[in-house]
Amino acid sequence: MRLVDVPNHEFMESPSSWLTRLALRQVVSPRELASYLDLSIRVDCEMALARTSFEELANRIAEAPGSFRMVDAVMQRLRKIDPNGDRFLLRRRSVAYHRYCAACLATDRVKYFRLEWRFKCWRWCPIHVCLLQERCPHCSKEVMLPGDMYCAGPDGLGIATLDRCLHCAELLTTGWQTYVGSLEEDDLTTPREQALTSNGRSVLAALLCGRLRMKGVPKIYSFKQLKNIELLGYLPHVNFQLTHEELHRRKKGESHAHVGTGVQKKKLSALNVIHRQNITSDA
Ligand SMILES: [Zn+2]
Ligand SMILES: [Zn+2]
Repeated sequence: MRLVDVPNHEFMESPSSWLTRLALRQVVSPRELASYLDLSIRVDCEMALARTSFEELANRIAEAPGSFRMVDAVMQRLRKIDPNGDRFLLRRRSVAYHRYCAACLATDRVKYFRLEWRFKCWRWCPIHVCLLQERCPHCSKEVMLPGDMYCAGPDGLGIATLDRCLHCAELLTTGWQTYVGSLEEDDLTTPREQALTSNGRSVLAALLCGRLRMKGVPKIYSFKQLKNIELLGYLPHVNFQLTHEELHRRKKGESHAHVGTGVQKKKLSALNVIHRQNITSDA
């Protein structure tokens, strides 16, 4: 059962990203690899592993270093508030996908997809202060992992690294420098959007450490409160229209979005989850 040439698990790498890279090293498809590992990954690889243990699976294969335990902690808590991942995880027509930060992928030594990029609520990158990309800038397809890197691309010649699109093989990171810092201008986003993106970022920290606090309330709550916070609409899940394209329209004064008012911010940030742990800066 032990495998050779197993890639290290990068910090908070999603299971589907790691299995995609592992399958390439073994020169098999992710589906063949999953079958060998007795793992059902058809609908959602992250949820499939949340039902068992990512760490236990990794230990069965090899002694590759990684943050498997932290991924398990997040996913097993998520299962308690969202057993199938329908409410919190990104899917399109029942297929799991990731958003991504083009600047992170462009500057990574090892190109990989983070677990937080699977979450509907994780809209922006706190390192590069920009919105995440929804899809490939060349073919407009979402990044659906695990994918077969060995046969990827329009001609089936494959891709070597995950900063390339599995469909068109072009770089997912094209133009990444123009995105860096694009959210720094407060007057381009509404207070409601600012509060929702901040809340969204806090969800991962709450799932990782198991507790959360509300602004202005001394009490510490269980992470299970996230379920109510989501139901109340305080996460950027539905009817959240802020995208790169929309931000660009606002910059050029072509959008009718009502930015710069402070009406709703108070209410939403009162429910803002306080960051207990910054999972993106602990690498
Ligand atoms: Zn980034
Ligand atoms: Zn593409």
